[in-house]
Amino acid sequence: MSALYSAGPVAALRRIAFLLERGREDSYKVKAFRSATATLLPLSAADLAAHVANGTLTTLPGIGASTAKVIVQAVQGEMPDRLADLEEKYAAPMVAGGRDLLALVRGDLHSHSDWSDGGSPIEEMAMTAMELGREYLVLTDHSPRLTIAHGLSAERLTRQLDVVDAVNAHLGSSGFRLLRGIEVDILDNGALDQTDTMLAQLEVRVASVHSKLAMDADAMTRRMVAAVRNPFTNVLGHCTGRLVTGNRGTRPQSRFDARAVFEACAEEGVAVEINSRPERRDPPTRLLELARDIGCVFSIDSDAHAPGQLDFLAYGCERAEQAGIDPERIVTTWPVDRLLAWAAARLPGSAAANK
Ligand SMILES: [Zn+2]
Ligand SMILES: [Zn+2]
Repeated sequence: MSALYSAGPVAALRRIAFLLERGREDSYKVKAFRSATATLLPLSAADLAAHVANGTLTTLPGIGASTAKVIVQAVQGEMPDRLADLEEKYAAPMVAGGRDLLALVRGDLHSHSDWSDGGSPIEEMAMTAMELGREYLVLTDHSPRLTIAHGLSAERLTRQLDVVDAVNAHLGSSGFRLLRGIEVDILDNGALDQTDTMLAQLEVRVASVHSKLAMDADAMTRRMVAAVRNPFTNVLGHCTGRLVTGNRGTRPQSRFDARAVFEACAEEGVAVEINSRPERRDPPTRLLELARDIGCVFSIDSDAHAPGQLDFLAYGCERAEQAGIDPERIVTTWPVDRLLAWAAARLPGSAAANK
């Protein structure tokens, strides 16, 4: 006999999608559950009950045999078999270490929605971050030049900011905040791939190298230092660009003078990102320790491209703890007001920048 389940079919489908993403299953497997959720949401309880009673769920768009089975079981108050299997397989803590640090983490400065190369709508990312206990999440979709990832033009980003406002208005007094951000490409010459006017309207800016990762070390150092010196930059994203595992294959780290780059970060108060994605593990341990010794601040980020990946922070926390980094130097443990003051401190025209 199945266990009881009272959270309803939408919660069951969302939880299944979340666990699949968290378990790094292929996105096509997840899509069915996300699509079925979208179909179910606008349906009235009476219509849903009728479809269950008549066995006509699979006539609805986006609902197939396996999602229909989940829905029927959830509607009948039974734990869906698929959900029970996934809870067993994927719900356990992802790593043994870093738990104390993870408990101190309040936010995440790097995430993507389906406006660029993420798989889910903005509101689903925000809702999941809230459910995970985050106090803030920065939405950082890609900048224009990254066309392969549907980077946002200034016009699209302007429209996205209205959506961010709407999501925050909808979440109301929950205490959670979705923050306006960008993952802006660092161009070959170190400039940032978005207008200053647009960058100034954002609350947190992650700057990352995504192209010409193999350029010579001197040129890469100049490029990265220039980006770090840019007053709009708050976080240096996945600094080496390496890939250590995963379906995109592996890629060596870029070569640059890490001491020069991290010293610039320390002087400017730019956070070195600890990118939690399992295929990145960036920066590598030796560089993480160098940045620690130089006195940098850090941001432990998920770089989530799907809601379930927001839980990847556990990986970054384990690495930061192993490297002995003081939580006080990790900006994502700071309350949102402190975080925002830090992120605005070097902006042209701010009191701190004019000192
Ligand atoms: Zn990136
Ligand atoms: Zn990213």
